[in-house]
Amino acid sequence: MIKENLLEVEKRVQAACDRAGRSRDEVTLINVSKTKPVSMILEAMEAGSRDFGENKVQEMVDKIEQIADPSLRWHLIGHLQRNKVKYVVGKAWLIHSVDSLRLAEQIEQESAKKDVVTDILIEVNVAEEESKFGITVTTALELIEKIAKMEHIRVKGLMTIAPFVENGEENRKIFTQLRKLSLDIKDKNIDNVSMDVLSMGMTGDYEVAIEEGATMVRVGTGIFGERNYQ
Ligand SMILES: *Cc1c(COP(=O)(O)O)cnc(C)c1O
Repeated sequence: MIKENLLEVEKRVQAACDRAGRSRDEVTLINVSKTKPVSMILEAMEAGSRDFGENKVQEMVDKIEQIADPSLRWHLIGHLQRNKVKYVVGKAWLIHSVDSLRLAEQIEQESAKKDVVTDILIEVNVAEEESKFGITVTTALELIEKIAKMEHIRVKGLMTIAPFVENGEENRKIFTQLRKLSLDIKDKNIDNVSMDVLSMGMTGDYEVAIEEGATMVRVGTGIFGERNYQ
């Protein structure tokens, strides 16, 4: 089933790229495997997937240990608490959810200790939903300028979680806004900051996100089926 789902998602990703005149290799499809068992990840790997997204640190670390495949890229896409940073640095290929200076400072400290450079995205709450993490559009630049001075962190781009909507089309303006923000920041040519990554779009709206410039889409339900939270 996962293989069929992946084929379907892949077809839609390709079609969205075609509509936007973009090349398929500009877009990374992150398989969001949170709450799903290792067996399903192995199935996705069988079908060729290499990028996996998790939103809980403990779950991600457990899965990394169980699967132990160095060719995989693990994306931490959920909120990160400072006391969990030490478990993530050196393990996550990319942290999508940095939204405060204090969190960045913790990542810097832990990365220095481990002598690694950690790639991160800044999470922006474009829709300004109260229930969501992420900084506002207006404070993003200020935060990025501060993080840019940290030697063991590289800011690779921006991430947003759009509102849950019935029709993905409704989120188009959110994606346009994030893209515009990333272009504005890119224009500042800040040392140590590239704005090459735009992580936006989930099962309900990834095609719209790709049309609006996403370079990473995070698809869970569309690949692994509905999640069962208990
Ligand atoms: C769960 C989650 C996703 C995937 O959501 P689906 O709607 O199942 O595709 C994407 N991004 C983040 C940050 C998530 O927490």
